[in-house]
Amino acid sequence: LSEEESEVLDRIEREDIDFLRLQFTDILGTVKNVSVPADQAEKAFTEGIYFDGSSIEGFVRIQESDMRLKPDASTFAVLPWRDTSARLICDVFNTSTGEAFKGDPRAVLQDALDRADEMGYEVNAAPEPEFFLFEEDEEGRATTKTNDAGGYFDVAPKDLASDVRRDIIYGLEEMGFDIEASHHEVAEGQHEINFEYDDALSTADNVATFRTVVRAIAAQHDLHATFMPKPIAKVNGSGMHVHLSLFTDDGENVFHDEGDEFNLSETAKQFTAGILNHAPALAAVTNPTVNSYKRLVPGYEAPVYVAWSDRNRSALIRKPAARVPAASRIEARFPDPSCNPYLAFAVLIHAGLDGIESGADCPDPIRENIYEFDEEKREEYGIDTLPTNLGEAIDALEADEMVYDALGPHVGPKFVEAKRAEFADYLVDVSDWELDRYLETF
Ligand code: GLU
Ligand code: MG
Ligand code: MG
Repeated sequence: LSEEESEVLDRIEREDIDFLRLQFTDILGTVKNVSVPADQAEKAFTEGIYFDGSSIEGFVRIQESDMRLKPDASTFAVLPWRDTSARLICDVFNTSTGEAFKGDPRAVLQDALDRADEMGYEVNAAPEPEFFLFEEDEEGRATTKTNDAGGYFDVAPKDLASDVRRDIIYGLEEMGFDIEASHHEVAEGQHEINFEYDDALSTADNVATFRTVVRAIAAQHDLHATFMPKPIAKVNGSGMHVHLSLFTDDGENVFHDEGDEFNLSETAKQFTAGILNHAPALAAVTNPTVNSYKRLVPGYEAPVYVAWSDRNRSALIRKPAARVPAASRIEARFPDPSCNPYLAFAVLIHAGLDGIESGADCPDPIRENIYEFDEEKREEYGIDTLPTNLGEAIDALEADEMVYDALGPHVGPKFVEAKRAEFADYLVDVSDWELDRYLETF
């Protein structure tokens, strides 16, 4: 046992933990867990815990279904809403080969981080997940009725949810999160909680945990928290902006350049160019649901156009103001919180590194509001648009070898297959919009 693992065993003793939830995610980013009695902890660390992977979305076929979970001791956290249970995030291993399972999204992100490491970089990431709190009906099912009428940065009494938000923050802090800020977002019932940046793997773990904690604590207040990107038409949707920067092993931020007008180094610009160049394919992973594309429309602070800016929020990538050199970073504004954070970070990082490796040319920043550009002006500036629906995004993903390969030989095809099926299912549906529009007209 490593020192960290022994420490976990001690804590289990000391804090009277009964059950361990061994957690991992499927390719769609849904958190899965196997619960084991706490006395299994040592065995979990040394041998791993066996489970049947065949019923996990995107994992394996029946005949090769035995998988092994190995907990990462650094992720031990007691669940705030059930303090005799703790969770551990796990890596998934193939029982027959003993190797890391390529279908594990955490392994896909690890591959991206290994590539960065070979190039001499550590990747830092910080997300800004937004979400809605909705009321439940008498049967406890989610509605789209917001429980408050607050707006951007409003305070109580307009922001009735500030109590829930406070409880969520206490819960997250108990689980080891450093919360930077939280506020009411623009739409009624919409909120944002920001947590401190960390290495990209820990941040992806944190996003998975965050969504679970927010839902669980909202439910204690009889509210439903949703990370669906656009639950209500014609008001702001929920994004999950991702701030990214690269550091050297000795803690120097390679994205910072004092001499540059935007304080961005050539490396940062190449990284930005890499993301812009691959944006349509990336969208399939960072914006992976049918509903994601209802958010990516002009006018609601969500990006549509493939450009970067040091000011305007209509661009795909923004350079936020940085107080200190260590804080120089880029903000990818297109991802939404329905994504699998491991896969989303993996493809963003690969695209950025690809930009560095190929010395990609970064276009000039766009400083105007691109929402107001007409097609002619966009053409003049050479600005492309993101895919307009999930089907187009999947086409772009399949056509972009670099991004497709970044998902690895297992997840790539499974992801495309699952998303094609999702889009096909959507296409044959008859929506309320159609009924409202046509039922009495024809
Ligand atoms: N809710 C907006 C979005 O869909 C972002 C608002 C903001 O800038 O925080 O991305
Ligand atoms: Mg926001
Ligand atoms: Mg932001």
